[in-house]
Amino acid sequence: MTVAQNLKPVRGIADLKQDFPVLAQQVNGRPVAYLDSAASAQKPQVVIDAMTTVMEQHYSNVHRGVYTFGSKTSIAYEDARSKVAAFLNAPSREDIIFTRNTTEAINLAAASWGGTFLNAGDEVILTELEHHANIVPWYFLKEKKGVVLKVVPILKNGALDMAAYDAALSKKTKLVSVTHMSNALGTVNPVAAMVKKAKAVGAVTLVDGSQAAVHLDVDVQAIGCDFYAFTGHKLYGPSGIGVLYGRRDVLDSMPPYQGGGEMIEQVSFDKVTYKDPPYRFEAGTPAIVEAIGLGAAIDYYMALDRKAAHAHEAKLLAEAEQRLSAIEGVKIWSKAPERAAILSFTIDKAHPHDVATIFDQMGICVRAGHHCAQPLMKALGTPATVRASFALYNTMDDVMRLDEGVQKVKMLFK
Ligand SMILES: *Cc1c(COP(=O)(O)O)cnc(C)c1O
Repeated sequence: MTVAQNLKPVRGIADLKQDFPVLAQQVNGRPVAYLDSAASAQKPQVVIDAMTTVMEQHYSNVHRGVYTFGSKTSIAYEDARSKVAAFLNAPSREDIIFTRNTTEAINLAAASWGGTFLNAGDEVILTELEHHANIVPWYFLKEKKGVVLKVVPILKNGALDMAAYDAALSKKTKLVSVTHMSNALGTVNPVAAMVKKAKAVGAVTLVDGSQAAVHLDVDVQAIGCDFYAFTGHKLYGPSGIGVLYGRRDVLDSMPPYQGGGEMIEQVSFDKVTYKDPPYRFEAGTPAIVEAIGLGAAIDYYMALDRKAAHAHEAKLLAEAEQRLSAIEGVKIWSKAPERAAILSFTIDKAHPHDVATIFDQMGICVRAGHHCAQPLMKALGTPATVRASFALYNTMDDVMRLDEGVQKVKMLFK
C-alpha cells in the first residue's frame, strides 16, 4: 500500500474559503471573487505558517550543516520530497526532482534528456493544447539539432483529434509531450491511453500536469509516463517550487542539467563526478522554504475529501457554463467532453481585456488573453478569451458574481 492510499480523508470541503486569508479581502469595495486559480492559486494559512515556522524557528541551508537547525531543515525539505512522491504515487521519493516550476521541469527534461537522446530528424509529438512551457523547450531542440516537431490538432470542441495522434505516431517518434489538462480550455486528455500508444512505438513520454495535479487524481504509475511535471503555486503552494517526476532508469541515463554545488560527488579541475538522481539535477541551494511550503500544501490537499472537492469544482463549472450560455452574445470555448474547472468564453463586441477590467471594478478576478497558448488561440480562431477558473475554495456566490459581471458587460457594450 502506498503512502497516498494510507492517508484517509479527514475533512469535508465545506467552508474552505476561510482557510485562505487573502479571500477575506475586498477588491474595489466588494469581497474578492477569485476566479483566476488556473494562473496561480491562493494559499491556505497552513502553508503560510509552515513557511514562516521554518524561517522563525530553524532556518538553515540543507544537506550541509551538522548543527541542529541544519538537520531539522534538511529533514523538513526531504519530507516534502516524500510528500510529493506519495501525492503522485511515484515508486520512490528519489524519482522526485525539485525545480523552480513546471517551466524549469520541462526545460530540464528537454536540455538533459532531449539534448542527449534526440537527434536531427527525430520526431517530438506535441499538441495544439500545449502551454508555451511545453512548446518552447522543444523548439530549442528543433533550432539546435534539427528535431522535428509534429503537432496533434484539436477538434472543433477543443478535444484532441485522437485519430490524428494515432497517425502521427511512428518509429521516428522519440518523444510524446502532452498536457494532462489544458490551462486555456480545461480539456482533459486521455494521457494513459496516449502513453500506452507512444510506448508501443518506443517513444519516451512527458506529461505536463500543471493543471491536472490540482483538479484530477494523478498516479504516475497508472499513467505509465516517463516524466510528469507540475508547479507548486497552482497547487495552493508557494511560487518558486515545481516538480519533475522521472522514471528511475530514464533519470539514471541523463546527464546533469546545471552544474554547481549539491549535485557533485567529487570535483577537481580535471574530473567531476556527479551524484545520483534526484540530487544530480538540483544544483545549488534549492528553494528550501518553498519546498517545505509545497509539502504543507500537499498535506492540506491530501487531508481533504478530494472526491468531494473535484465534484464541487465540477458543480461550479456546470453552473457557470449553464448561466453564461443562456446569455445572448456569449460564446463558450470550453466544450470538450472531458474537461474540468476552467471556463473560457468571449462576449460579442467586448474585448476580453475590457471584460477583465470591468470585472476588476466589481471585485472579480479573471484572466483575459492568450493564456500562454498562442498556437491554441490560432487553432480556435480567436486572439484571446476570458477565462474563469475554479478551485476548491470557490463558492456558488463566486459563480453568481461571474454572471453579474457578464450581464454588466453586456449592458455596457450593447
Ligand atoms: C501554468 C502552466 C504551466 C507553466 O507553469 P509555471 O509555473 O509558469 O512554470 C505549464 N503548463 C500548464 C498547462 C500550465 O497551466
